[in-house]
Formats: sequence, structure tokens, C-alpha cells
Amino acid sequence: MLKNSDYNQQRIDPARHIRKIFLEESCRDLAYTREILDRARDIEVEIIGDRTVPDIQAGPYPRSLTKGKQYLLLCKNRGSFFKPCPGTREYCCCDYQVLNIGMNCPMDCVYCILQAYLNNPWISFFVNIEDLLSELDLALAHKNQFWRIGTGEFTDSLALDSLTGLSKVLVAYMRDKKSAVLELKTKSVSVENLKDLDHGGRTIVAWSLNSPAIMAGEELKTASLDQRLQAAVKCAQWGYRLAFHFDPIIYHPGWREGYAETIKKLFDVVPAEKIAWISLGGLRFLPSLRPTALTRFPNSRFFHEEFIMGLDGKCRYFRSLRVELYRHLLYHLRQRAHPATCLYLCMESEEIWQECGFAPGQAGRLPLDLDRAVCDSL
Ligand code: SF4
Repeated sequence: MLKNSDYNQQRIDPARHIRKIFLEESCRDLAYTREILDRARDIEVEIIGDRTVPDIQAGPYPRSLTKGKQYLLLCKNRGSFFKPCPGTREYCCCDYQVLNIGMNCPMDCVYCILQAYLNNPWISFFVNIEDLLSELDLALAHKNQFWRIGTGEFTDSLALDSLTGLSKVLVAYMRDKKSAVLELKTKSVSVENLKDLDHGGRTIVAWSLNSPAIMAGEELKTASLDQRLQAAVKCAQWGYRLAFHFDPIIYHPGWREGYAETIKKLFDVVPAEKIAWISLGGLRFLPSLRPTALTRFPNSRFFHEEFIMGLDGKCRYFRSLRVELYRHLLYHLRQRAHPATCLYLCMESEEIWQECGFAPGQAGRLPLDLDRAVCDSL
């Protein structure tokens, strides 16, 4: 049985958790694959046929997820790399675009929605990046559209970066794109590849934050709050704009003090004027996540609260509790945030926005406000 405390001593480069790499035959001669294998000299590599299931002998799903996070499959993405974020019409959406660089990650958050989405336990990373860049070329050729693009939807943007070096490729690609910005979202401190890059202000480095208790107990193998904030300071010194996401906000004993402490530390350490946006999102999850997560993490308590079914088919807290959580965090954020930083709610209705002190119409203007938060500083 897993105990959260077993992991929390090991807050290191998440890529160091990879024990073995499986490599699809057709990808072995790609220049990018060879670069990755050069960096992974200490890791065993097995070449397997295309579309072959890696044999990781991990037992039945979902318990196999724990072991699966030590195995990395380098393969081709045979679908699309670039898609709109799957928002729901009933909630205010930020018009984000997802760049799909892989699936799953070596860190292990109790609430990770991927446990319910994925049907295999290993980590996949796509090495056909020429195809990825061609697809981006096509999308960005559209006139009169500004794109906010993120790689952190189905994986963590930087958790494997010391192995893959993908951030260098993407930051260089984005540098002179006038119609887009890239957001790299992480819970790691794997930012060394971002140093000394000519990023042209087109990459934003973002961290998910939570209360100290949630970060320590429910986000296994991730960097601590202090480590994340120190990494953010480094990125600010290298000229990057920053973003932070309080998502998922979790109701737990001491939540008021915990979130207030995180927000205080954030603004004590990080220059407020460098922060482009800060989002807030209450815990929400597909019903199938709860039994999966509780099988893997039986000591976690937060799934035992009461939830309602949202219009997106996901469980979420009652409206009154969500508003109480958001108001509390916003109270502390509004005291210290820079006026140019865009504060916003993720996947909530116009009414909830207004109950939380936002002006009428502000929720509907979210995509424009986010675009402005980056464009005005370029
Ligand atoms: S860091 Fe993100 S992708 Fe990785 S386990 Fe946590 S929630 Fe899932």
C-alpha cells in the first residue's frame, strides 16, 4: 500500500524516476530520438515494434500506474498535436489551445485526472517533433487569431525536460511568432534548459500551487512550494513572464490558513509585475476517478466530501462552498497582485464570477483579457 510520506523525501528531478525506456522501432533513427538517448545513457533501452504494448509486468490497472510511471515509451503521435482545450459551453472558457507532447508524467498527484483518462500505465512521449512543428506552422498561419498554447494538459510541461530538451525546441520556435504565446506549466523545478534562451517574451513559465498540506500530502514526487517559487524567481530573472494556477483548490482542514500562507509566500518571493495571470479552479473530477484514486491512495481524505455533478459531467463542490473557497483566495490575491495580472476562474459560470466580486461581463471577456495580459508587455 502506498503511503504519501514514502515519496516526499524524494523531491528530485522527476526524470530521474525513469527506470527503462521503450522505443518504437520506426523512431530509432530520428535525430531527436538520438539526442534523448544520448542524455539517457544510464537508462536501459528496449526497442519494440510500432504500436506494440511495452511489457512492464506491472499487474492490473490502476495499481500498475505506480510502477508504470517508471517506464517511458518514445513513440510517434499518430493523431493531432494541436487541439482546442475541451472546455464546456455552460462555463466561461479561456480559449486555450493544447499542444499534446505526450501522456502521463513521473510525478504522482492523488487527484490527477489522467488516472481516469488513460488506459495504460506507462508514460508516452512523442518524438516526431517535425510533425508537431509543421502542425503548429499550419495553425499559426491563420490570420487575425491570437493563440495561447499550453503543453501541460495531458502531462507536465517540464517534468521530463532534462531528458527530452523539448522546451529548448519550443521556446526557440515561439520566439518570433507574433500571434501566439506558449505556456509551460509544471510542478517540477526542471527549468535549467530555459536559461540563456532567446525567448522573445513568447514563453510563459507557470506553476500549479496549492496549500502546503496538499502539496506535501497529495502531490507526490513534486517540488515543494519553496522550490517552485525559487525556480519561478530564476525564470523571472531570465526575462520570462510567469503564471500560477491554484488548481485544484481542495477543501481540507486548515484550508483558509494554508492557501493564505501560499499566497503570502508567493508574493514575498516572486516579483508581482512578472505574473501575467493567476487562475483559480475548484476540485473537479470524472466520477470514475474516485475509486481509482482511492484504490491507489486509501489514506487520502478529500474524496470523501460531498460533491454535485457539474454540467461538464464532472463532480465538483456545492456552489456555496466553491464561492467561499474562491472568495477567500481572491481576497488574499487581490491585496498583493499587480493591477496588470489577470485573475480568473477556471470553468465557472458568469454568476459565480460575479458572486466572487468580478464585474458583470468580465467572465465573457476572459480570452481577450488573457491575450492583453501578455500582449501589452511585449
Ligand atoms: S503533475 Fe500533473 S500530470 Fe503529473 S501526476 Fe500531477 S496532475 Fe498528473
